Amino acid sequence: MSARVVLRAGRARPFYGRHPWVYPGAIEAVTNDPADGDAVEVHSHAGNFIAHGLYNSKSKLRVRLYSWQQEVPIDEHLFRARIEEAIRLRDGILRMGARREGEAPAEPRTIDNLDAETARQEPHPPGSRQACRLIFSEGDGLSGLTVDRYDRWLVVQITGLGIGVRRDILADLLMEIAQPEGIFLRTERGIGRLEGLELHDGPLRGKLPDEPVVIEEAGVRFHVNIAEGQKTGFYLDQRDNRQAVARYASGRRVLDGFCYTGGFGLHCARAGAMDVVGLDSSAPALDLARANADLNGLDSVSFRAGDVFEQLDALVDAGERFGMVILDPPKFARAQHAVPEAMRGYRQLQTQALRLLDADGILVVCCCSGLITREMLEELLSQLAAETRRRIQILEVRGQSPDHPVAATCPESSYLKCLICRVL
Ligand code: SAH
Repeated sequence: MSARVVLRAGRARPFYGRHPWVYPGAIEAVTNDPADGDAVEVHSHAGNFIAHGLYNSKSKLRVRLYSWQQEVPIDEHLFRARIEEAIRLRDGILRMGARREGEAPAEPRTIDNLDAETARQEPHPPGSRQACRLIFSEGDGLSGLTVDRYDRWLVVQITGLGIGVRRDILADLLMEIAQPEGIFLRTERGIGRLEGLELHDGPLRGKLPDEPVVIEEAGVRFHVNIAEGQKTGFYLDQRDNRQAVARYASGRRVLDGFCYTGGFGLHCARAGAMDVVGLDSSAPALDLARANADLNGLDSVSFRAGDVFEQLDALVDAGERFGMVILDPPKFARAQHAVPEAMRGYRQLQTQALRLLDADGILVVCCCSGLITREMLEELLSQLAAETRRRIQILEVRGQSPDHPVAATCPESSYLKCLICRVL
């Protein structure tokens, strides 16, 4: 008999509701002594089957749930089905890179040509320069597994031990289904401590590129260093937001705060910004940002290294003005206790940004901390408007790109906010 995790009385509701994380506090008993990473059945106190999950005694996420059908265990078939579903979303529904470079754009999608079009699509069109998140952990029913596609390569991030011990079977399935030239493993800092999982960056399968991969995002090309860049190399979650923000950039002097390899700024430059200044503390990121500006023949762009908080103060002191300020900082709040300090950080950044903004300026506020909600960001803007006596109009409230789908039963899979505001 497979190992069982029995829940405490009255604690089963979230899991019948298909939330995928079982914390220790909900657990009454564990039977048959599962090893870390083993599959377990989760049962209610009354003894009813709820879900199949992967167990890890070292993690706060004691069981991660993957299947709510007793007859569907966690095995190769389940992983294959989930990977295929995930790819169908990106290549089919979202039409991300469904055609080869140089090929004429596909006809508009109608019910009539849907089947023919799906049949034409290949799992991975070579040379497409396509980049997208292929698998988004809980968002794709695969808690602990993130896979990004950069042209012909995949970058895998593993954040759960149960997935970690199954990495060979997952890598084989990805090679077969997505047909990349190679798969590279990137580890997230702290994951060894959180999950008791020791992994190291390195190739998992196939051949890896000798140079940074070049991807294309809405007509702008970027070098991506999949072996050494931040996260998996590029912030794909902001793809649609970069394009949305660029629509406001024409004729403006743009300040791109926390610019990484130039994402927002280069899109703005291409959309006709008068001048773009990118700020970031990472020298390697700025080296790539400059290379990216050259790659796209954009010469109205410059980058400055340093701490954004200090740089904003210096720009205010120097009396500089901008028509658009973008703030896309890293995650400030990783735990509830860090939220007040994080909010002070956003307040400081936005206060200085407002000082730099001309009347009729555009302020872009991004936040990738799931613990900080859209409502909290709107409340902060409301306070700042009153304090600085400026009218702030919120024009767009945006989230993560749809290749980072939010699982309706896992609100934590919604994390990114991007507010585009006009400041009078
Ligand atoms: N806007 C980017 C992604 C930004 S990620 C894009 O579209 O690709 C956040 C960036 O903030 C990282 O590049 C990191 O190097 C930088 N960073 C973190 N803390 C910083 C600080 N205090 N000052 C300047 N840059 C910082």
